[in-house]
Amino acid sequence: MTDPIQKQLVELTTQLIDERSITPDAADCFDILSKLCQQHGLICQRFDRHATQNLLISTSSSKQVDLLLSGHVDVVPPGDITKWRFDPFQAIIDQSTLYGRGAVDMKSSVAAMVLAVIANREQCHRASLSVAILLTSDEEGDAIDGTQYVMSTLDVMGYRFRHALVGEPTSVDHVGDTVKIGRRGSLTGQITVLGQQSHVAYASQDINPLFAISQFIHEARLTQWDLGCAHFNATQFCVVSAHSDCVATNVTPREATCVVNFRYSPASSHRTLRMQVNTLLRRTGMEYHVQWSRPNLPFLSQRGMLSKLIATSIDKTCQIKPILSTSGGTSDARYIAQYVDEIIEFGPRNHTAHQIDEHISLSDLEKLYRIYQSFIDDYSQQVAPVMMPPKHTRVAADK
Ligand SMILES: [Zn+2]
Repeated sequence: MTDPIQKQLVELTTQLIDERSITPDAADCFDILSKLCQQHGLICQRFDRHATQNLLISTSSSKQVDLLLSGHVDVVPPGDITKWRFDPFQAIIDQSTLYGRGAVDMKSSVAAMVLAVIANREQCHRASLSVAILLTSDEEGDAIDGTQYVMSTLDVMGYRFRHALVGEPTSVDHVGDTVKIGRRGSLTGQITVLGQQSHVAYASQDINPLFAISQFIHEARLTQWDLGCAHFNATQFCVVSAHSDCVATNVTPREATCVVNFRYSPASSHRTLRMQVNTLLRRTGMEYHVQWSRPNLPFLSQRGMLSKLIATSIDKTCQIKPILSTSGGTSDARYIAQYVDEIIEFGPRNHTAHQIDEHISLSDLEKLYRIYQSFIDDYSQQVAPVMMPPKHTRVAADK
């Protein structure tokens, strides 16, 4: 790559990967980014809380933000480092591919977004547009003190946001093939069935909680929870673990526990799913209790200007048309959706996210930057600044 911006893009991504920012630690990522942004006249504000660090980068001091870009600099632990071809925190380019933890999730997006905003800052000023980037070090962890905390704090401070783009790795086979316009909900439950400890030679099957747990799992697996709805696949049930308080090989357990997770469409809700689970558990005839975690609600953004603009930028850069999807796991978009008119997620291919030897090709990295740059450019030309409504409208919905 010879273009100066391409060189800068690779250098910034490399610098960020070299930072050992395992969630919720940002290491020196925000110092690197703040220094660069301030050199180009951008405003940087920190919103750190407990061990989490958060950085808001803005093109203006206005609290009426037209476009909010969002990302995270924290990464998941590398796992067994001896399995990696290269040091996960020492970015290396091998055969035009950049290796290191965060190469796709999502230091490449962060570098591309920051440089795209810097490249478009004059244009934003001329168009009287305010563009901001919210970065956190808490997306891969508890996600309490990160984007969720900053968005509610900014709301109280009087900030209003119109549109948002989250840079999570959404592409599948090719950069640009998939844009997310919503996310399924997530609900986790720990189910405990109580039986009776007994000698295996004399125990009745009716008092063995493991039989009840396996009956529940079997029936849950065969259950059609819903048929899905527009843009959402049908709700999916998954078992994460199952075990008992086994004390000896000749003793039946007194209790058995399993952890289950639902990725659910808006055709279901956490309430209807909990009711259906209770119905299945009652059929076992055993005493049980379920501890539910707080659900992550599904959301679907209005299909509008942003999805069209990103599709145009992708087409211009990669000559492909993206599909609009709601698949995959949760992201910080769930904490932003309620504050904006429209939110989309777009980023690089996710094929090596969280894996050993995480990597991104240099051509994909460049495409990512070109798409973000073109997107902000087109946005600044097409969007007239408007006064924000006094209060946000919530788009996340759950029954
Ligand atoms: Zn991510």
